[in-house]
Amino acid sequence: MDLNLKDKVIIVTGGAKGIGEAITRSVSKENGVAVIVGRSKEVGEQVAEDIKDQGGKALAIHKNLGTPVSCSEVIDEVMQEYGRIDGLVNNAGANDGVGLEKGGPDAFLASLEKNLYHYYYLAHYALDALKASKGSIVNISSKTAVTGQGNTSAYAAAKGAQLALTREWAVELLKHQIRVNAILPAEVMTPLYESWINTFSDPKAKLNEIERKIPLGNRMTTSEEIANMAVFLLSDRAAHMTGQHLYVDGGYVHLDRALAGAKE
Ligand code: NAP
Repeated sequence: MDLNLKDKVIIVTGGAKGIGEAITRSVSKENGVAVIVGRSKEVGEQVAEDIKDQGGKALAIHKNLGTPVSCSEVIDEVMQEYGRIDGLVNNAGANDGVGLEKGGPDAFLASLEKNLYHYYYLAHYALDALKASKGSIVNISSKTAVTGQGNTSAYAAAKGAQLALTREWAVELLKHQIRVNAILPAEVMTPLYESWINTFSDPKAKLNEIERKIPLGNRMTTSEEIANMAVFLLSDRAAHMTGQHLYVDGGYVHLDRALAGAKE
């Protein structure tokens, strides 16, 4: 199926690693222009160069998101380079374990800055361009927004707010034909996830325990499976979808956990 993303300019925050990298590469495979925004210059440029070597179009923007200025600079740079924006994928974030007990007001606010504020700032500064292109926004949230996790108040709050903003922006932007949707991953092996699993004394045993509880296939979701949904939502194949919260999680959130081990 052709997603008609040829030459569409799509910004992917955190687009050089994990889920973001998979989305970047999927945009490129669909002949779109991938704009990678991230705080690691080398890694972003490496992915962009790799895409260009394969005949694709990509731009790496080195930016630590969080402040309004850094986000407005991202949009300015994309507009200077391409003169249009067709899609924004808000993806950058990290589950940083700022809880009620281990944390405090300063840590809570700092985590929201890293996980939530730039979702709003980028959408705000990209709005004129998205109006012109009748573009699309995809917010990467998390199962944590609806299940909780414990000891991660700020991350859960940010992920919940992203779902609320998805509905809110979908309504506000109806008149501009800008569609806004969210994806909720549950368990996806990425560099971030790997460093988390390695904090356990027996990472392999912990991973087995997690995988057993994922109903469909007792396995992790791949980054590519999240990216497949993201490029579909960005495309005009999803022309009548807006304000949706999509769970790409092998049934993790909604199916009965008694299904653990259902494969055997
Ligand atoms: P990842 O492997 O750490 O990749 C995220 C990328 O975003 C990294 O390159 C990171 O840069 C960058 N980034 C993070 N915060 C940033 C900031 N403030 N400014 C600029 N760049 C920033 O993470 P991932 O697992 O792919 O997660 C991507 C998204 O999926 C996140 O929103 C996460 O909450 C969500 N999610 C993931 C899972 C999962 O199982 N993996 C589950 C639910 C939700 P550095 O390399 O410098 O850190």
